[in-house]
Amino acid sequence: MIDYTGKVALVTGGASGIGLAMARALRARGARLMIVDIVDDRLAAAAAEFGEDALVQRCDLSEPSAPATLIDDAWREFGRLDLVCSNAGIGHNRKVIKEAFDEKVVRLFNVNLMAGLRLAQVYHARLTQERAQGRILLTGSENSLSVPSAVKGSGLALYAASKHGLLIASEWLRDETAGGPLSVHILMPGAVYTPLISKMIPDPSMAPASLNLIMPERCAEIALKGLDLGLFYIPTQRHLADDMKPRTEGVRNALELLGL
Ligand code: NAD
Repeated sequence: MIDYTGKVALVTGGASGIGLAMARALRARGARLMIVDIVDDRLAAAAAEFGEDALVQRCDLSEPSAPATLIDDAWREFGRLDLVCSNAGIGHNRKVIKEAFDEKVVRLFNVNLMAGLRLAQVYHARLTQERAQGRILLTGSENSLSVPSAVKGSGLALYAASKHGLLIASEWLRDETAGGPLSVHILMPGAVYTPLISKMIPDPSMAPASLNLIMPERCAEIALKGLDLGLFYIPTQRHLADDMKPRTEGVRNALELLGL
Protein backbone atom coordinates (compact mmCIF):
# COMPACT_ATOMS: atom_id res chain seq x y z
CA MET A 1 0.00 0.00 0.00
CA ILE A 2 1.15 3.52 -0.75
CA ASP A 3 2.15 5.42 2.38
CA TYR A 4 0.52 8.84 2.05
CA THR A 5 1.73 10.09 5.42
CA GLY A 6 3.07 13.59 4.92
CA LYS A 7 2.54 13.32 1.16
CA VAL A 8 0.67 15.94 -0.85
CA ALA A 9 -2.19 15.33 -3.27
CA LEU A 10 -3.87 17.79 -5.61
CA VAL A 11 -7.50 16.94 -6.42
CA THR A 12 -9.24 18.92 -9.15
CA GLY A 13 -13.01 18.99 -8.97
CA GLY A 14 -12.27 18.09 -5.37
CA ALA A 15 -15.17 19.91 -3.74
CA SER A 16 -17.89 17.54 -4.95
CA GLY A 17 -18.71 13.95 -5.82
CA ILE A 18 -15.87 11.60 -6.69
CA GLY A 19 -13.16 14.24 -6.15
CA LEU A 20 -14.41 15.08 -2.67
CA ALA A 21 -14.61 11.38 -1.78
CA MET A 22 -11.04 10.86 -3.01
CA ALA A 23 -9.85 13.88 -1.00
CA ARG A 24 -11.51 12.45 2.13
CA ALA A 25 -10.02 9.00 1.53
CA LEU A 26 -6.54 10.46 0.95
CA ARG A 27 -6.80 12.56 4.12
CA ALA A 28 -7.81 9.45 6.06
CA ARG A 29 -4.55 7.86 4.86
CA GLY A 30 -2.43 10.79 6.02
CA ALA A 31 -2.15 12.98 2.93
CA ARG A 32 -2.15 16.76 2.91
CA LEU A 33 -4.39 18.15 0.21
CA MET A 34 -4.81 20.84 -2.33
CA ILE A 35 -8.45 20.92 -3.37
CA VAL A 36 -9.40 22.84 -6.47
CA ASP A 37 -12.84 23.58 -7.85
CA ILE A 38 -14.82 26.30 -9.53
CA VAL A 39 -18.08 26.47 -7.52
CA ASP A 40 -17.78 28.92 -4.63
CA ASP A 41 -20.23 27.36 -2.16
CA ARG A 42 -18.67 23.93 -2.67
CA LEU A 43 -15.22 25.44 -2.08
CA ALA A 44 -16.43 27.11 1.12
CA ALA A 45 -17.88 23.82 2.38
CA ALA A 46 -14.62 21.98 1.59
CA ALA A 47 -12.56 24.67 3.35
CA ALA A 48 -14.78 24.34 6.43
CA GLU A 49 -14.59 20.55 6.39
CA PHE A 50 -10.84 20.12 5.76
CA GLY A 51 -9.53 23.07 7.79
CA GLU A 52 -5.73 22.93 8.01
CA ASP A 53 -5.57 19.59 6.20
CA ALA A 54 -6.17 21.24 2.83
CA LEU A 55 -5.39 24.28 0.77
CA VAL A 56 -8.68 24.98 -0.97
CA GLN A 57 -8.43 27.05 -4.09
CA ARG A 58 -10.71 28.36 -6.84
CA CYS A 59 -9.49 27.60 -10.33
CA ASP A 60 -11.06 27.28 -13.77
CA LEU A 61 -9.48 24.24 -15.42
CA SER A 62 -10.86 25.27 -18.81
CA GLU A 63 -8.16 27.97 -18.85
CA PRO A 64 -5.03 26.69 -20.62
CA SER A 65 -2.76 28.42 -18.09
CA ALA A 66 -4.49 26.91 -15.03
CA PRO A 67 -2.50 23.63 -14.76
CA ALA A 68 0.90 25.39 -14.70
CA THR A 69 -0.36 27.80 -12.05
CA LEU A 70 -1.64 24.92 -9.90
CA ILE A 71 1.60 22.97 -10.05
CA ASP A 72 3.58 26.11 -9.13
CA ASP A 73 1.18 26.88 -6.28
CA ALA A 74 1.46 23.34 -4.91
CA TRP A 75 5.25 23.50 -4.80
CA ARG A 76 5.24 26.97 -3.32
CA GLU A 77 2.82 25.94 -0.56
CA PHE A 78 4.02 22.41 0.23
CA GLY A 79 7.47 22.06 -1.36
CA ARG A 80 6.36 18.80 -2.97
CA LEU A 81 3.49 17.15 -4.87
CA ASP A 82 3.14 13.37 -4.80
CA LEU A 83 -0.20 12.75 -6.50
CA VAL A 84 -2.37 14.68 -8.94
CA CYS A 85 -5.98 13.56 -9.27
CA SER A 86 -7.14 15.26 -12.46
CA ASN A 87 -10.80 14.74 -11.83
CA ALA A 88 -12.71 17.94 -12.68
CA GLY A 89 -15.22 17.18 -15.37
CA ILE A 90 -18.47 18.33 -16.89
CA GLY A 91 -21.36 16.46 -18.40
CA HIS A 92 -22.86 17.08 -21.83
CA ASN A 93 -26.12 15.60 -23.10
CA ARG A 94 -26.99 16.44 -26.68
CA LYS A 95 -27.56 14.15 -29.65
CA VAL A 96 -24.58 14.52 -31.98
CA ILE A 97 -26.95 14.80 -34.94
CA LYS A 98 -28.25 18.01 -33.34
CA GLU A 99 -24.92 19.21 -31.93
CA ALA A 100 -24.28 22.95 -32.21
CA PHE A 101 -20.49 22.64 -31.78
CA ASP A 102 -20.62 25.82 -29.76
CA GLU A 103 -18.54 27.22 -26.92
CA LYS A 104 -20.02 24.60 -24.56
CA VAL A 105 -18.31 21.91 -26.62
CA VAL A 106 -14.99 23.77 -26.55
CA ARG A 107 -15.28 24.01 -22.76
CA LEU A 108 -16.23 20.32 -22.51
CA PHE A 109 -13.04 19.27 -24.31
CA ASN A 110 -10.90 21.81 -22.46
CA VAL A 111 -12.03 20.54 -19.05
CA ASN A 112 -12.55 16.81 -19.69
CA LEU A 113 -9.57 16.20 -21.99
CA MET A 114 -7.04 19.02 -22.29
CA ALA A 115 -6.82 20.01 -18.60
CA GLY A 116 -5.65 16.52 -17.59
CA LEU A 117 -3.07 16.37 -20.36
CA ARG A 118 -1.81 19.86 -19.57
CA LEU A 119 -1.53 18.92 -15.90
CA ALA A 120 0.44 15.80 -16.80
CA GLN A 121 2.77 17.84 -19.01
CA VAL A 122 3.64 20.52 -16.44
CA TYR A 123 3.72 18.05 -13.54
CA HIS A 124 6.12 15.78 -15.44
CA ALA A 125 8.39 18.76 -16.21
CA ARG A 126 8.38 19.86 -12.56
CA LEU A 127 9.07 16.35 -11.25
CA THR A 128 12.00 16.10 -13.65
CA GLN A 129 13.35 19.46 -12.51
CA GLU A 130 12.93 18.57 -8.82
CA ARG A 131 14.28 15.01 -9.29
CA ALA A 132 11.09 13.79 -7.61
CA GLN A 133 8.61 10.97 -8.29
CA GLY A 134 4.86 11.38 -8.67
CA ARG A 135 1.61 9.83 -9.84
CA ILE A 136 -1.23 11.23 -11.91
CA LEU A 137 -4.71 9.71 -11.77
CA LEU A 138 -6.85 10.95 -14.65
CA THR A 139 -10.59 10.49 -14.31
CA GLY A 140 -12.01 9.00 -17.49
CA SER A 141 -15.30 7.13 -17.55
CA GLU A 142 -16.97 3.92 -18.60
CA ASN A 143 -17.65 6.09 -21.65
CA SER A 144 -13.89 6.03 -22.34
CA LEU A 145 -14.23 2.42 -23.44
CA SER A 146 -17.48 1.89 -25.32
CA VAL A 147 -21.13 2.86 -25.56
CA PRO A 148 -22.29 1.48 -22.20
CA SER A 149 -25.53 -0.40 -22.80
CA ALA A 150 -27.21 1.25 -19.78
CA VAL A 151 -26.78 4.78 -21.17
CA LYS A 152 -27.56 4.13 -24.85
CA GLY A 153 -29.69 6.95 -26.27
CA SER A 154 -28.65 9.48 -23.60
CA GLY A 155 -26.96 11.88 -26.03
CA LEU A 156 -23.51 11.33 -24.57
CA ALA A 157 -21.59 11.29 -27.87
CA LEU A 158 -19.34 14.29 -27.27
CA TYR A 159 -18.96 13.63 -23.53
CA ALA A 160 -17.87 10.11 -24.52
CA ALA A 161 -15.57 11.53 -27.20
CA SER A 162 -13.85 13.69 -24.57
CA LYS A 163 -13.43 10.66 -22.29
CA HIS A 164 -12.38 8.33 -25.16
CA GLY A 165 -9.82 10.97 -26.08
CA LEU A 166 -8.56 11.05 -22.52
CA LEU A 167 -8.09 7.29 -22.46
CA ILE A 168 -6.15 7.01 -25.70
CA ALA A 169 -4.01 10.07 -24.88
CA SER A 170 -3.31 8.59 -21.44
CA GLU A 171 -2.18 5.32 -23.03
CA TRP A 172 0.29 7.29 -25.18
CA LEU A 173 1.32 9.36 -22.17
CA ARG A 174 1.95 6.21 -20.11
CA ASP A 175 4.21 4.86 -22.84
CA GLU A 176 6.02 8.17 -23.43
CA THR A 177 6.78 8.58 -19.73
CA ALA A 178 7.59 4.93 -18.88
CA GLY A 179 10.64 4.64 -16.64
CA GLY A 180 10.53 8.35 -15.79
CA PRO A 181 9.39 10.32 -12.75
CA LEU A 182 5.64 10.18 -13.49
CA SER A 183 3.41 7.15 -13.16
CA VAL A 184 0.14 7.45 -15.14
CA HIS A 185 -3.21 5.89 -14.16
CA ILE A 186 -6.77 6.25 -15.46
CA LEU A 187 -9.89 5.85 -13.34
CA MET A 188 -12.90 4.74 -15.35
CA PRO A 189 -16.03 5.01 -13.23
CA GLY A 190 -19.38 3.61 -14.24
CA ALA A 191 -22.37 5.42 -12.76
CA VAL A 192 -21.52 7.09 -9.43
CA TYR A 193 -24.15 8.93 -7.42
CA THR A 194 -22.86 12.52 -7.56
CA PRO A 195 -24.49 15.81 -8.61
CA LEU A 196 -23.68 14.82 -12.21
CA ILE A 197 -26.24 12.00 -11.88
CA SER A 198 -28.56 13.31 -9.15
CA LYS A 199 -29.62 16.08 -11.55
CA MET A 200 -31.29 13.33 -13.62
CA ILE A 201 -32.05 10.75 -10.89
CA PRO A 202 -33.02 12.60 -7.68
CA ASP A 203 -33.33 9.39 -5.65
CA PRO A 204 -30.54 6.77 -5.99
CA SER A 205 -32.97 3.96 -5.14
CA MET A 206 -34.85 4.83 -8.37
CA ALA A 207 -31.76 4.23 -10.54
CA PRO A 208 -32.17 1.42 -13.09
CA ALA A 209 -30.38 -1.74 -11.92
CA SER A 210 -28.49 -1.84 -15.23
CA LEU A 211 -26.53 1.27 -14.19
CA ASN A 212 -24.93 -0.63 -11.28
CA LEU A 213 -24.85 2.69 -9.46
CA ILE A 214 -22.24 3.08 -6.73
CA MET A 215 -21.60 5.80 -4.17
CA PRO A 216 -18.63 8.20 -4.43
CA GLU A 217 -16.98 6.67 -1.34
CA ARG A 218 -16.88 3.25 -3.04
CA CYS A 219 -15.47 4.83 -6.20
CA ALA A 220 -12.73 6.54 -4.16
CA GLU A 221 -11.93 3.29 -2.35
CA ILE A 222 -11.48 1.49 -5.69
CA ALA A 223 -9.41 4.38 -7.07
CA LEU A 224 -6.94 4.26 -4.17
CA LYS A 225 -6.80 0.46 -4.28
CA GLY A 226 -6.01 0.68 -8.00
CA LEU A 227 -3.14 3.07 -7.24
CA ASP A 228 -1.91 0.78 -4.45
CA LEU A 229 -1.83 -2.07 -6.97
CA GLY A 230 -0.06 0.11 -9.55
CA LEU A 231 -2.85 -0.39 -12.10
CA PHE A 232 -3.01 1.75 -15.21
CA TYR A 233 -6.68 0.94 -15.97
CA ILE A 234 -8.86 1.39 -12.88
CA PRO A 235 -12.47 0.41 -13.71
CA THR A 236 -15.10 0.62 -10.98
CA GLN A 237 -17.83 -1.82 -12.08
CA ARG A 238 -17.69 -5.30 -13.62
CA HIS A 239 -20.02 -4.46 -16.54
CA LEU A 240 -17.34 -2.32 -18.22
CA ALA A 241 -15.75 -5.43 -19.73
CA ASP A 242 -19.10 -6.64 -21.14
CA ASP A 243 -19.90 -3.21 -22.58
CA MET A 244 -16.74 -3.40 -24.73
CA LYS A 245 -17.79 -6.68 -26.39
CA PRO A 246 -20.01 -5.26 -29.21
CA ARG A 247 -17.05 -3.30 -30.57
CA THR A 248 -14.48 -6.10 -30.45
CA GLU A 249 -17.01 -8.65 -31.73
CA GLY A 250 -18.11 -6.25 -34.47
CA VAL A 251 -14.53 -5.90 -35.71
CA ARG A 252 -13.98 -9.68 -35.47
CA ASN A 253 -17.19 -10.39 -37.43
CA ALA A 254 -16.24 -7.83 -40.07
CA LEU A 255 -12.80 -9.44 -40.45
CA GLU A 256 -14.46 -12.81 -41.00
CA LEU A 257 -16.89 -11.41 -43.59
CA LEU A 258 -14.02 -9.65 -45.35
CA GLY A 259 -12.05 -12.90 -45.38
CA LEU A 260 -9.19 -11.31 -43.47
P1 NAD B 1 -19.37 16.47 -9.75
O1 NAD B 1 -20.12 17.45 -10.58
O2 NAD B 1 -19.88 16.13 -8.40
O3 NAD B 1 -17.84 16.89 -9.60
C1 NAD B 1 -17.12 17.51 -10.62
C2 NAD B 1 -16.48 18.75 -10.05
O4 NAD B 1 -15.66 19.35 -11.07
C3 NAD B 1 -17.52 19.78 -9.62
O5 NAD B 1 -17.37 20.18 -8.27
C4 NAD B 1 -17.27 20.94 -10.57
O6 NAD B 1 -17.51 22.21 -9.98
C5 NAD B 1 -15.80 20.75 -10.94
N1 NAD B 1 -15.49 21.44 -12.18
C6 NAD B 1 -16.21 21.44 -13.32
N2 NAD B 1 -15.65 22.26 -14.21
C7 NAD B 1 -14.54 22.78 -13.64
C8 NAD B 1 -13.57 23.70 -14.07
N3 NAD B 1 -13.62 24.26 -15.27
N4 NAD B 1 -12.56 24.02 -13.21
C9 NAD B 1 -12.52 23.47 -11.97
N5 NAD B 1 -13.43 22.59 -11.52
C10 NAD B 1 -14.43 22.26 -12.34
O7 NAD B 1 -19.30 15.16 -10.64
P2 NAD B 1 -18.52 13.79 -10.43
O8 NAD B 1 -19.46 12.75 -10.88
O9 NAD B 1 -17.89 13.69 -9.13
O10 NAD B 1 -17.41 13.93 -11.58
C11 NAD B 1 -16.03 13.79 -11.33
C12 NAD B 1 -15.39 13.19 -12.56
O11 NAD B 1 -15.87 11.87 -12.74
C13 NAD B 1 -15.70 13.93 -13.85
O12 NAD B 1 -14.54 13.96 -14.65
C14 NAD B 1 -16.76 13.06 -14.50
O13 NAD B 1 -16.79 13.20 -15.89
C15 NAD B 1 -16.29 11.69 -14.07
N6 NAD B 1 -17.28 10.61 -14.11
C16 NAD B 1 -18.40 10.67 -13.33
C17 NAD B 1 -19.29 9.61 -13.40
C18 NAD B 1 -20.55 9.59 -12.57
O14 NAD B 1 -21.38 8.71 -12.80
N7 NAD B 1 -20.74 10.50 -11.63
C19 NAD B 1 -19.04 8.51 -14.22
C20 NAD B 1 -17.89 8.50 -14.98
C21 NAD B 1 -17.01 9.55 -14.91
